[in-house]
Amino acid sequence: MTCAACVMHVEHALLETRGVVAATVNLATEKAAVAFEPGAIPLDELRKSVEDAGYSIGTTDTTLTVGGMTCSACVMHVEHALREVPGVTHAAVNLATERARVNYVPGLAGITEFREALEDSGYRLDGVEGDARDSAAELERLSRTEEIHYFRHRCAFAVTLGIVLLLGSMHVLPWFDYLNGLNLGSWQVWPWVLWALATPVQFWAGWPFYKSGIPVLRHGTANMHTLVALGSTVAYGYSAVITMLATLAPIGTGVYFDTAALIIGLILLGRFLEARARGRTSETIRRLIGLQPNTARVVRDGQEIEVPVQDLVAGDVVAVRPGERIPTDGEVLEGSSAVDESMLTGESMPVDKTPGLPVYGATLNRTGFFQFRVTRIGQETALAQIIRLVEEAQGSRAPIQRLADRVASVFVPAVGGVAVAAFLFWLLLGPDPALTYALLTLVAILIIACPCALGLATPTAIIVGTGKGAERGILIRSAQALETAHRVDTVVLDKTGTLTEGRPVVTDIVPAEAGVERELLRLAASVEYGSEHPLATAIVEEANRRGASLADVSDFEALPGQGVTGYADGKLVLLGSPALLAAQGIPLDSLSEALAKLASEGKTPVTVARDGVALGSIGLADAAKPDSRESVARLQEMGLEVVMLTGDNRQTARHIADSLGIARVEAETLPSDKVEVVRRLQADGKVVAMVGDGINDAPALVQADVGLAMGAGTDVAMESADVTLMGNDVGSVITTLRLSRQTMRAIKQNLFWAFFYNIMLIPVAAGVLYPVFAALGGVPTELEFFFGDQGFLNPVLAALAMAFSSVTVVSNSLRLRGAGV
Ligand code: ADP
Ligand code: MG
Repeated sequence: MTCAACVMHVEHALLETRGVVAATVNLATEKAAVAFEPGAIPLDELRKSVEDAGYSIGTTDTTLTVGGMTCSACVMHVEHALREVPGVTHAAVNLATERARVNYVPGLAGITEFREALEDSGYRLDGVEGDARDSAAELERLSRTEEIHYFRHRCAFAVTLGIVLLLGSMHVLPWFDYLNGLNLGSWQVWPWVLWALATPVQFWAGWPFYKSGIPVLRHGTANMHTLVALGSTVAYGYSAVITMLATLAPIGTGVYFDTAALIIGLILLGRFLEARARGRTSETIRRLIGLQPNTARVVRDGQEIEVPVQDLVAGDVVAVRPGERIPTDGEVLEGSSAVDESMLTGESMPVDKTPGLPVYGATLNRTGFFQFRVTRIGQETALAQIIRLVEEAQGSRAPIQRLADRVASVFVPAVGGVAVAAFLFWLLLGPDPALTYALLTLVAILIIACPCALGLATPTAIIVGTGKGAERGILIRSAQALETAHRVDTVVLDKTGTLTEGRPVVTDIVPAEAGVERELLRLAASVEYGSEHPLATAIVEEANRRGASLADVSDFEALPGQGVTGYADGKLVLLGSPALLAAQGIPLDSLSEALAKLASEGKTPVTVARDGVALGSIGLADAAKPDSRESVARLQEMGLEVVMLTGDNRQTARHIADSLGIARVEAETLPSDKVEVVRRLQADGKVVAMVGDGINDAPALVQADVGLAMGAGTDVAMESADVTLMGNDVGSVITTLRLSRQTMRAIKQNLFWAFFYNIMLIPVAAGVLYPVFAALGGVPTELEFFFGDQGFLNPVLAALAMAFSSVTVVSNSLRLRGAGV
């Protein structure tokens, strides 16, 4: 695929395949996401559709060493087994060498699938050639080395010869002038020399344009390569005809072999530079894939043996030494250490690991020696999930891109029309030699007609933006989220766990009457034992610390956002927010003074009642995160309204909000009310970002224009959020919003540059300057290279502009990498 027009062609081709319901094609990642009706469509059909449209599905080759083959019948079996694997396009087995060469679509098929297929049919996979693991194939694809090489050689060849031809035609090279004067009778030698030099450029260096540009013509469509192929062929063919006619009688006009060669050379140069720059946009993914260690030290029978990571299975015990990367996800068995998880979470502080705690593949063990039990391998690991999420986001389409695609789809035919009209116009009404000028006009417009850069403007910026986020522990799930985030004007922050640590501790125990203090805590802890709420955990911890023995509880019930209830020691215990008890008609008069005091200190009161009588209250404090205050201030500086949302007591919430500098507070909201708060803000015309812990805030996260789930750690499977913040501070919210603003700015600049050249040059190419220069009395000599002697755009300049519009756009996206957030 070469340009925005191709995206539409491939999408249409896929959509027309039977059973396909949706298809999204991304030019920058060169991936197509296809949704189809239940019942798989054979890959072959999709491939056929894509190939019929003039494109191809990228495949890769690998060589497998197959064990257990004994006779030529086995060859057939193995080939058959491998071909049956979805995603395999071709398999050829050599019995003598015990090798199978497999051509497959990476991502659809892989080593694991091959191994399974071979084992199911009674053979073994004994080895994979070189480093042909899936990730290696993917790395290769991402770094585009093949494509870069392909274009580099052809480009160097075409540009060199093109310059020789150009200098020759401009009488700069003396030996050219010698040839120029050399005539065999009336027969001129030099056009034939030019022709001979231009031919390999046209058909070898220019082959990529013919190969992918011409087949699509059969479908009545055209892409960038079609236009380049047509444009250069017109210049070349016209010159060839002139050269042949010149043998019959001297012809007044020149030949344009240098133009044809330079068009090809410059467009190839653009493709080469673009491929190189695009390879760099996916640096994040490459880095993440490269983080995965290759081997692990498995402990078997007390001995450590080194095995490839692919051979690990869940349950294996693996030893890790200081300075090593942890090979896969697992749980610490013995030993302890500090582990640097910054590559996954973006947080630079090492995390302490003791037995029972999870460790993640690709993180770096700093200080200690420990052993862990493998829990997840391969595609299940946190790292693999992160890679998948980032890739999905990078492949998704931003709404702003739809506009660009629509424009692109009408642009090519419209400019094609302009080209034909200009050609006819100058042919009939232009200066002599009319055919020459008309053809030059046609060639120049054809070269400019393709908005090549348009297809890259949005996706390259999205790739860089999402990649940059991932490096900071911010997983943006879709291009749409990244785009919407720049319009956000209101940030709703959940209090517990977002602004505060989310680890409350018991600070006060206030009995309603003297002497019930111990009983109060014991009963509360007994019932809270069944709850996973942070307040519950704190109360249970405090009871344990004071050595209370908990009672058995029956009929436990959690009242989300309010409290808990249950029978302990045969008595009905109800505890939770004062509002909950008040709603049950339990008088709290004896506690009112204490409750007011707790609230004024920013503490959360949990009141406890036994058989309908208030026993007392427990005060809990949850410290604000160290960066909360500053982050809130920075959000406000960015012009955003900050709203704090909490189920906590109104006075307590007010106190905490004041200490953080937040003016607007929505307190005592039940989980279901949180959605309402967001909806209300949206009804007021606000674009809302909601930041919460993702568990009880899920509905609000979904309702918000952008939902950010915080504190997920390495648990990246947060379905309800548009953005998963693996780090734990409010600062990541700021980073996300700024990243979105930067990305959108880059996209808008890109769209400008993508169109700038086209819009500027099409009229010039169509010849609007001809009357201008005619009125001035001819083209000034200094400008003759650009406009010839009559004011028509030199098609070489059109090629130069086209080559550089793509390069400008991709480089501008890359610049985003370096910008601080
Ligand atoms: P937040 O919005 O701050 O995350 P929740 O919605 O989880 O708070 O809870 C709101 C209020 O309900 C708490 O401040 C507390 O008063 C009460 N509550 C909820 N669950 C419990 C529980 N398990 N024990 C005691 N109180 C609870
Ligand atoms: Mg909460």
